[in-house]
Formats: sequence, C-alpha cells, structure tokens
Amino acid sequence: NFVMNKFMGCCPFLGVSKKTETAFGMGMAVTFVITIASLVTYFVRQLLVALELVNDSAIVNDERSKRDSLTKLYNHESFYEELEYYQRRYEENRERFSLAVIDIDNFKNVNDTYGHAFGDVVLKEVADICARHKGAAGFCARYGGEEFAIIFKGAGVGQAEEMAEQIRQEFEQKMFTTPQGERSFSVSIGVAEYDRAYPGASAFFEVADAALYCAKREGKNQVRR
Ligand code: GH3
Ligand code: MG
Ligand code: MG
Repeated sequence: NFVMNKFMGCCPFLGVSKKTETAFGMGMAVTFVITIASLVTYFVRQLLVALELVNDSAIVNDERSKRDSLTKLYNHESFYEELEYYQRRYEENRERFSLAVIDIDNFKNVNDTYGHAFGDVVLKEVADICARHKGAAGFCARYGGEEFAIIFKGAGVGQAEEMAEQIRQEFEQKMFTTPQGERSFSVSIGVAEYDRAYPGASAFFEVADAALYCAKREGKNQVRR
C-alpha cells in the first residue's frame, strides 16, 4: 500500500486515470442494465405473441385501421371500398347483392335523456344485432354516427327486406335499464338491390338512403325499399 501511494503520488496522471476508470465502469453498468431491460422486454413480447395474448400481425394491425373503435364494425371508408368491390363483381359476373341502411330513431333524444355513455351502449347493441344478421358472406359497417350499413351478398331486395325486418324486430324487443325503468328503442331501415349500373358507389347508396328517408317520414320503426 505504502509503495502504491508513493507511486500514485509522484504520478498525478494515474490518479485522473482511476477517476476515468470509475466513470467508465458506471457507463458500462448503465449500458448493461439498458441492454438487459431491452432483451427482457423483447422476450416478454415474443412470449405474449406466442401465447396469442398480443397480436403482432401486420394484417391484423391493418385490419384495426379499417374498424370503428366503438362498435368494432368496419368504418365508413372500408364500407365504400367494399361497396365498390361488389359493384365491380356485379358488372363483371352479375353477382347479386343488396344494401340496407339502418338509422337509430330519435337518437339525439336518447343521448339528451340518458347521457352520451348510455347512447354508446345503445349504439353497440345495434352494431351487435347487425353483425349477427348480416349472414356469413355479408358485410357490416358503421356508416357514421348512429347509422349502419349492411351489404347482403347474393340477396335480392325481398331477402334484404326480410333480414332488415328481423334486425328491426330484435332491436325493438331489446330492453335497456335506465334510471326511469326499462326502455326500448327503435331503428328505421332502407333497403335497395343493385340491379343496374350506377355512376358510383355513393349514387347506389343514395337509393337505399332514400328508402330510409321514406321509413322515417312514414313514422319511423319500419323497413322500406
Ligand atoms: P332521427 O330519428 O330522424 O334519425 O333523429 P335522430 O335524433 O336519431 O338524428 P339526429 O341526426 O338528429 O341525431 C343523431 C345523434 O347521434 C346526434 C349525435 O350526438 C349522436 N351521435 C353520433 N355519434 C355518436 C356516438 O358515437 N355516441 C353517441 N352516444 N351519440 C352519437
Ligand atoms: Mg342519422
Ligand atoms: Mg337517427
């Protein structure tokens, strides 16, 4: 020790070097901890993916951007993509399809009376009923606020009308618990079949939307074509 102290004392450069060494050691330790933490994070994520608790698929992530976050149905943009696709199929192979546009009746009043969160519960219920009735090959979307749209593949307007009527009845029978007691609500639905070339997807949508307008004008809670 004595020899060492003597040696360090007459060589100041080595004293600085020891401090540098300590700083270097700490730097290494921090780097080590960060590396271990990153590795642990990576392996935990891989484990969750393997256990299917987290989805890492690009397709599913892409799918997520096509969905509405509240109802999990396809969103407005995806709806038009799909409608254009069905139009092309009709023009090429005469593959039949129909459209239903569903709108909740007096929904502004539902929000105003029971609150927005309650309104969201009602919205989700309509979405679930639509999804259940769209048929295996059907396509169901949240078109906008309290409006939904279903493409019934292979269906004529009569079949679409029947399926829309089932949706209308099921929703009408659903009871919701409110502070004022059990309440039920209703939807109006317009249906149309794609039976000729329209200048665009929105031009065809307008046909079903006009039928919906009829249903509203004639007293709501009904299906019109
Ligand atoms: P009608 O019977 O003619 O369809 O009348 P309505 O009151 O249903 O129609 P209106 O267009 O006047 O009101 C639609 C309401 O939907 C207004 C808006 O605040 C509400 N809304 C839209 N999106 C959402 C949502 O995500 N959650 C909730 N809770 N309400 C929403
Ligand atoms: Mg509306
Ligand atoms: Mg409405």
